[in-house]
Amino acid sequence: MSDQELMLLAKKARENAYAPYSKFKVGAALLCSDGSVYVGCNVENASYGASVCAERTAIFGAVSDGKRSFLKIAVCGGRDHADAPCPPCGDCRQVLREFADNTFRVILKNGDALLSYTIDALLPLSFQKGVLNA
Ligand code: ZN
Repeated sequence: MSDQELMLLAKKARENAYAPYSKFKVGAALLCSDGSVYVGCNVENASYGASVCAERTAIFGAVSDGKRSFLKIAVCGGRDHADAPCPPCGDCRQVLREFADNTFRVILKNGDALLSYTIDALLPLSFQKGVLNA
């Protein structure tokens, strides 16, 4: 699946975002190694801290379905449109780190173009599995 196709799924997932407080709607689409795709949207709550981002909604859904190997995730978000880059927050970067290898890519929208990042670029010197064995 191309980055553009995955981004289209993220954009469609964004339509389901529940963001009555921030009005900032985000969609994500996660491509698994087996070709399956899991989408997510942000789900806000009146108790703001209980809100969850689109990226984690997607990855938790995939993991709950037994998936552990992922190729890339497309993310788009914004208030009025979703054309500016919407980088994952720190919590989502940490959750992605748990499952991402060096080939995993985070795809962001930048107008009609797409940006692509490794998790190492987004979260350098990250806390990860190997650290627990040190
Ligand atoms: Zn997040």
